[in-house]
Amino acid sequence: MTKRPSIAVLCSGGDGPGMNAALRSVVRTAIKNGIDVYGVYRGYDGLLDKTIVPLDLASVGNIIQRGGTFIYTSRSPRFMEAKYRAEAAKYLKELGVLGLVVIGGNGSFNGAYRLSEEQGIVVACIPGTIDNDIEGTEFSIGFDTATNTAVEAIDKIRDTATSHERTFLVEVMGRSAGGIAITVALTTGAEAVIFPDQSVDLKVVAQTVERGIKRGKKSSIIIVAEGEKEGLGHGYQKTLKDTYGLETRLCILGHIQRGGNPSARDRFLGSVMGNQAVQAILDGKKAVATVVRQGKYQIAPLAECLNKRNEFDKSLVDLLDTLAL
Ligand code: ADP
Repeated sequence: MTKRPSIAVLCSGGDGPGMNAALRSVVRTAIKNGIDVYGVYRGYDGLLDKTIVPLDLASVGNIIQRGGTFIYTSRSPRFMEAKYRAEAAKYLKELGVLGLVVIGGNGSFNGAYRLSEEQGIVVACIPGTIDNDIEGTEFSIGFDTATNTAVEAIDKIRDTATSHERTFLVEVMGRSAGGIAITVALTTGAEAVIFPDQSVDLKVVAQTVERGIKRGKKSSIIIVAEGEKEGLGHGYQKTLKDTYGLETRLCILGHIQRGGNPSARDRFLGSVMGNQAVQAILDGKKAVATVVRQGKYQIAPLAECLNKRNEFDKSLVDLLDTLAL
């Protein structure tokens, strides 16, 4: 009996809600097209440890609403080395797959690109990261849910802040990208937002809060973007108190933002992008990413999606200042 054509799929790097929806879409699109699917457990490590499982229609049943990824994810230091990427490629060639679908963030995209450039493996990447910091796409899977989770938590913090007439610093995820921070700040009615690059002056932040208190505000929320280094929130808290006399409570939301049931938007993105990634491999594309550009779902060369995108529309900070008056 001749072997049916197949593809492999893995999740890599930080998890994000909606990855399961993407996996479901990859598997069902492939099977609809007569293609078998291997799920690779634990990201790139799974290619080196040969931990793969055949995925069938039922294996992706009842997962669209679940956070995380049911085939697990990992960070693989080995895969950073060319010799291990060669080993991974050898295994994929032995399996005889048409291509590899990678669901992950900026690092995972770079790993896939190297696998393609060095070893000729066909790759189709799906942006899956709450940070939404991949160049070349307006959205990545997980960002919407993470933002909504943070908003829900901050609404609760606002209740306590109001009851006690306090100012809270709330640190949100997103590493060096400020997308989560500015979105959350605008949608929770925060008084101010602080980015790790110090583009916001803490003196101005303190003045904004004091002005609000003077005009009768019963609570204030300052959103802090986590940055790459741990402990930034603690540093801001100290400076605000010691230098500007503003007393605050600090709440670090942390990993709750990475889990939870994906929003409708992230399920939708996962479903569309999973389908497009498989379709791209079937169409003979070599190294691509699924992207959203000007609101349209497209396939782009992976080479256009390798850098980190840290910038966002800075006029949104002016909008926050206006609305926080
Ligand atoms: P994310 O994909 O969420 O940004 P990481 O940056 O941790 O997460 O990357 C995930 C994995 O991708 C890394 O552990 C590594 O195995 C692989 N990777 C990252 N950058 C590269 C690179 N430049 N070359 C090869 N592999 C890489």
